[in-house]
Amino acid sequence: MNELDVFLCTDPRDVGCDQVMEVLHVYAELVAGDPTTAEERYPGVAAHLRACDPCGTDLDGLLELLRTADTP
Ligand SMILES: [Zn+2]
Repeated sequence: MNELDVFLCTDPRDVGCDQVMEVLHVYAELVAGDPTTAEERYPGVAAHLRACDPCGTDLDGLLELLRTADTP
């Protein structure tokens, strides 16, 4: 897939990096509990995370923190 195809495939629900950053900590906690619920509650965030590598990496980092915090 070339860059033009990536651009054309951008999901119209995609809320963009700024809004994702505002709710990412909440979204990460939802994903840690139930990923399906997280996607239903924040479809725009889910759409963005599929399209944006840097934000996906941030989510992975938050999930890693949550997993570590859950360890007794
Ligand atoms: Zn982003």
